[in-house]
Amino acid sequence: MNCHQMGVTRMCTCTIPYFKEIIIMAFTCDNCLHRATEVKTGGGVSELGRRYTIKVNKPEDLNRDLFKSESSEIEIPEIGCTVVRGSLGGVFSTVEGLLEKVNLIYHRCLKLFRATILLLVIVLMSTINLTSKNLLTS
Ligand SMILES: [Zn+2]
Repeated sequence: MNCHQMGVTRMCTCTIPYFKEIIIMAFTCDNCLHRATEVKTGGGVSELGRRYTIKVNKPEDLNRDLFKSESSEIEIPEIGCTVVRGSLGGVFSTVEGLLEKVNLIYHRCLKLFRATILLLVIVLMSTINLTSKNLLTS
């Protein structure tokens, strides 16, 4: 993927009791060692949505396995965090693993936001500079 050489994609389906079928895809490249995993729900979209609440009261609660589908939303009201549907993809991990992913995405977005603000400031300053030059010449 990164080096444009042929890699290997492995897929398997797995059924979670009382939930549904999920498809786990793993890509590996022997050339550059790039690895990527993706989890998607199988068996179509359910007719009705369902809300699950996980209370984390003790450190062991962070080890709980969970699957977040690509179309679901995460809300952590205690820290004012909402991850809107479609922004994280499917995740099969623990509560801690999911929080790490949310943290990583947050910091990437923050960097992008800062870069955009910086670019806007540069554009604005050059516009002001151009305007002041025009004022000086006219
Ligand atoms: Zn590669």
